[in-house]
Amino acid sequence: MTALLEIDLGAIAANWRQLAAMHGGETAGVVKANAYGLGMAEIAPALAKAGCKTFFAAQLEEAVNLRRLLPAARIATLNGLFPHAAADFFAHDITPVLSSLRDVELWHAEAAGLGRSLPCMLHLDVGMNRLGLTARDLARLRETPALLAGLRIDYVLAHLLASDVPDHDANPAQLRRFAEAAAQFPGAKRSLANSSGMFLGPDFQTDLARPGAALYGLNPIPGRANPMRSVVRLSAPILQIREVAAGESVGYNATWRAARASRIATIGVGYADGYHRALSNAAHAYFDDTPVPLVGRVSMDLATFDVTDVPANPGDPLLLLGPHHGADALAAEAGTIGYEILTALGRRYQRRYIGA
Ligand SMILES: *Cc1c(COP(=O)(O)O)cnc(C)c1O
Repeated sequence: MTALLEIDLGAIAANWRQLAAMHGGETAGVVKANAYGLGMAEIAPALAKAGCKTFFAAQLEEAVNLRRLLPAARIATLNGLFPHAAADFFAHDITPVLSSLRDVELWHAEAAGLGRSLPCMLHLDVGMNRLGLTARDLARLRETPALLAGLRIDYVLAHLLASDVPDHDANPAQLRRFAEAAAQFPGAKRSLANSSGMFLGPDFQTDLARPGAALYGLNPIPGRANPMRSVVRLSAPILQIREVAAGESVGYNATWRAARASRIATIGVGYADGYHRALSNAAHAYFDDTPVPLVGRVSMDLATFDVTDVPANPGDPLLLLGPHHGADALAAEAGTIGYEILTALGRRYQRRYIGA
């Protein structure tokens, strides 16, 4: 009896349409990391059917797999170029997001070798200090415009570092720096907002928005009601229920002790399935509409819940993720973010795609 992970492709498509409708420019779909762990092979075609035309992967391998699924889409990779990869980008019609002067040089050399102009996007670093051309790099490009010969810069993009905190000082500061840096490339369109950035108001609208998380049901406006549809449902059948006397412990290292005679339900999901050990003595599952607490340590393949107060039986499902208790809520119990819950979802679940 394995746990069942249901992924609602209809809800993902509806989330994309909802974001696209509130945005003035084009809306892309970010499908890096196997579409945030939920399955790029199923999700990318569903997004394309909903009208999405531009897709972002992180890595070349992801982009090549995506190209097989979507022959006509614009596909870009966020992690930049690397030596000896330019020919593969060209062969599979992948648009690199150039994020350093070295990337620019590599793509320029590829274009020169082919004797043609090649499309690209330029990542401008406006404060994340992770990837992207710095102010010094931009000065270099102004001094030596020949470095850009053969490059057709379709977009300049930048990434917000605190878009989930609407009143963070970094938001207006990054907006200003992006406008200044982008002015150096008057022929290029602009792309700034991720999911949360799309909710920061009209100033943050650009030619191309790049939502990922919100497509998959994560809340782009933490602290306020989630405007997105729930996408993921994870349920695990109860393997056994045991009676535990008051004073007895449950699980490794006896971190939980029964204060009363208790009924403990064991499920076959553990940290090897991305049900993080940090959830020990902290998470909840749902039995129908009633929350039941996780007790004791999460182990590799098992977790235990106190079901004393509900009429649960072996074989009944406990809902680990669902509309009551989404990835953001489980993340809060684990001390992480919903992104990490989704991208860690295990490979042992039975996966079922619904709503297509
Ligand atoms: C991951 C990523 C996104 C999507 O971010 P979400 O918060 O998931 O919407 C957009 N742009 C860049 C550069 C990214 O790395």
